[in-house]
Amino acid sequence: MNSAMYSDTAAQVNTETSSYPIWVGWEIYEEIGERINNLIRPEVAYLITDQNSQKHARSIQVSLEKNEIKTHIFIMESGEIYKTLDTVGHAYEWLAKLKAERNHLVLAVGGGVVGDLAGFVAATFLRGMPFGQVPTSLLAVMDASVGGKVAVDLPYGKNMVGAFYQPKFVMSDVSFLKTLDQRQLNSGWSEAIKHSLIVDRNLFDEFQTYVDDITSFDPDVTTNIIRRSVAIKADVVSKDEKETLGIRILLNYGHTIGHAIEAITGYSKYLHGEAVSIGMMGAAHISHSLGILSGDEVDLQRAVLDSYKLPTCAFGLNKKQIIESIKSDKKTVSGDVTWVLLEKIGKSLTRRGVSRNTVMDALDMIIESKAS
Ligand code: NAD
Repeated sequence: MNSAMYSDTAAQVNTETSSYPIWVGWEIYEEIGERINNLIRPEVAYLITDQNSQKHARSIQVSLEKNEIKTHIFIMESGEIYKTLDTVGHAYEWLAKLKAERNHLVLAVGGGVVGDLAGFVAATFLRGMPFGQVPTSLLAVMDASVGGKVAVDLPYGKNMVGAFYQPKFVMSDVSFLKTLDQRQLNSGWSEAIKHSLIVDRNLFDEFQTYVDDITSFDPDVTTNIIRRSVAIKADVVSKDEKETLGIRILLNYGHTIGHAIEAITGYSKYLHGEAVSIGMMGAAHISHSLGILSGDEVDLQRAVLDSYKLPTCAFGLNKKQIIESIKSDKKTVSGDVTWVLLEKIGKSLTRRGVSRNTVMDALDMIIESKAS
């Protein structure tokens, strides 16, 4: 069966190395066994999940077993601190003892940590096993599960060892997100809104119009808006899988300052989407001071981020430290940052050679000296 036959297909990602569907629906988990069999027919599936997502992994397991796919579950501890080679080693041992074969499936059921780690395991065990993703956090649905970047952290830095390894499919069951806590959900909306800011004004307007339906998790409205936002990332990744053509970099809107804020606060004070939200305000201010973006649009961006309870400024951070951290970011080349900026809401561009003073002025707008 062709994957396009499912009405909930948000996108078909087409890269040089593969082509795979992303399904986004409400309570579609019961169909996963049948859908997998239509795609790859694995005899055995190895589910990798974490403590907080294991309930959803169990639901997936039932569907797989009903469809005669044997299953095993590996439950890792939850949290970024476990996205390590040590956990990978335990997963390798588990797969080796179960005599996993090259045509069996590794299936990630969890947030971005599980997806990144399970993908790394799938990419490397037996030099590569088929891999599927069932993201269960909004951030993973929106971002981490789409694009084939898999990695684990080293003590020297985040995502330092990894690969580009595309899955065979991604199934996002939006009903799984109901068990997320509110702060995690809001953090995921940040990436979703970012997609609209960089390429789709209509979608941005919908985030503004349907804020109540979306934040109260109305099944139809929420599923639809997530499907459209995911399709944007899938489209960008299809055009520029390995970030070499200057297209995928647009997804970094808000990330230059956002990553620096995460790094100087030890990845503990802000969730990723929260730091990106503050970073998007910084990038909007830079866009405005370079005369590219109107002040009204900066205010509109802030208002929409506010309505999703996302932070638009930070308190008590050292601006010089932020600048130093930006300079040492792995995306910074010879000290010059490629900034992703907005020309207007729904249209982004990149700029190099933005002066330190311009960046400092923008930081003045988003970093308050202390909490009011
Ligand atoms: P996470 O996986 O740690 O999930 C956040 C928390 O939510 C965890 O405690 C998790 O156990 C819990 N959780 C997940 N699903 C749940 C559910 N349905 N109900 C209740 N709790 C649930 O973090 P994340 O925010 O999902 O992802 C962050 C990770 O993703 C980082 O490691 C980051 O590097 C990575 N990432 C990767 C990419 C990529 O392109 N590969 C992109 C963005 C982020």
